[in-house]
Amino acid sequence: MTEPTELAGLRAIVTGGASGIGLATAELLAERGARVAVLDLAPGVLPAPLLGFTADVGEDASVRTAVEAAAEALGGLDILVNNAGVGAVGTVEDNPDEQWRQVLDINVLGVVRTTRAALPHLRRSAHAAVVNTCSIAATAGLPGRALYSASKGAVYALTLAMAADHIGEGIRVTCVNPGTVDTPWVARLLDRSPDAEAERAALNARQPHGRLVSAQEVAAAIAYLAGPLAGSTTGVALAVDGGMAGLRLRPATG
Ligand code: NAD
Repeated sequence: MTEPTELAGLRAIVTGGASGIGLATAELLAERGARVAVLDLAPGVLPAPLLGFTADVGEDASVRTAVEAAAEALGGLDILVNNAGVGAVGTVEDNPDEQWRQVLDINVLGVVRTTRAALPHLRRSAHAAVVNTCSIAATAGLPGRALYSASKGAVYALTLAMAADHIGEGIRVTCVNPGTVDTPWVARLLDRSPDAEAERAALNARQPHGRLVSAQEVAAAIAYLAGPLAGSTTGVALAVDGGMAGLRLRPATG
């Protein structure tokens, strides 16, 4: 059952919160009573009551400035959702070193930079939580996703390591592992495909529940992990993937 005031009084930052999973998460956290700041490259006009701050998680100074400004505007910080990320397509032969550096810099070091800037504030919270948007690519081998998978594998390992490092100071660290989620990101992938309908059907079929995951479903998992009711949960990955990681179904027979 939804508890609308579960997050009342809590203050949250969501990176990459201007689109897709991040926007759905920011909206849900606010709906449940949190005050929410979105950090994004260009937050644009956000639905009320979300606060927008410009930040590039690839730039340490930019992240520090935005986290400080957000924490001040919110009056502190209890929840950090490290969600900003970029994609990459290709096998290990396909992406140049420069692209490896760029994607690892955003997807992995982005989490490092934002968490590092947020920790002094989180230490002052009675309900501190960090939730990282990881991916099924961290735990299952997906074709044509070598670089992206390496980045999310690192996010998964980082989640566990940070959970161990900060449990003693009352800060929980978890992640969600979505399957393929119906966001502008996937829309862009489909746009580039020669047969978007066939590609969408293949993506739907890859998930045992037969459809793409919705951004709202991922947001609900993040909101759970971020809230005080998950106070005994840390160092875990919650799959939101229609069964893709865990199930081994028998093919349908005629
Ligand atoms: P999206 O493209 O809709 O949103 C991503 C947001 O991150 C955008 O608003 C973008 O501006 C922001 N962003 C990108 N680089 C940034 C940077 N350097 N600094 C600050 N903000 C930045 O994508 P989405 O599908 O909502 O993806 C969000 C997260 O979910 C990503 O970490 C992605 O890896 C992960 N994820 C997505 C899927 C999927 O199928 N869509 C599946 C698993 C995991």
